[in-house]
Amino acid sequence: MTVSWTPHRFSGGVLALDAANTVVLRGDPVRSFDRFADVAEIARFAEAASLHRSEELDGRRLIVEDARNIAPKVLSIREATDRLFRSAAQEGSIAAAELAALLVACAAGLGSLGERFDATDRPFRAVQTPLAFEAALAVSALSLLQPARLSRIRICANCRWLFVDGSRNRSRLWCDMAVCGNRRKAQRHYRRRRVEDNGHA
Ligand SMILES: [Zn+2]
Repeated sequence: MTVSWTPHRFSGGVLALDAANTVVLRGDPVRSFDRFADVAEIARFAEAASLHRSEELDGRRLIVEDARNIAPKVLSIREATDRLFRSAAQEGSIAAAELAALLVACAAGLGSLGERFDATDRPFRAVQTPLAFEAALAVSALSLLQPARLSRIRICANCRWLFVDGSRNRSRLWCDMAVCGNRRKAQRHYRRRRVEDNGHA
């Protein structure tokens, strides 16, 4: 079944975290699944990301010429991104081994391309030609190492997705208030009702 790449699936705030979040319920051995298990979804994700991440990408379109060919690079950037930034969000520090793994994975994504990136906080602005997805993913992940970004990476209290907290007081709990925030509120309401119905306080 094909995935519907809705705006909710781009709640990470940046391309690299949206990609990390394509593994659903990480750490849950029973319910976890990978939306990129069908490599055709990598191309469909890239197409949707061109739209939902157009601000970060400065309007550049992402291209996937051969999904099967780039899949190993994409998956290794995605997994290294999740490991490093999830542990950074939890520990407040970066593990050297995880940084090394991310750099190696990103090097493979960038390796053979004759791209140049803008030397500002808008790396994709340099040119307007379509951009290889694996290269965009690498640049997006590396951009998260900037301290201002790094200190704002959070883990959703409901679904455990990673997201950048852009709120003024840095207090966002949910990847998407409309989905995860409301789901948690409904659960709490249901539990309270059940306790009351059972005659307990
Ligand atoms: Zn969530």
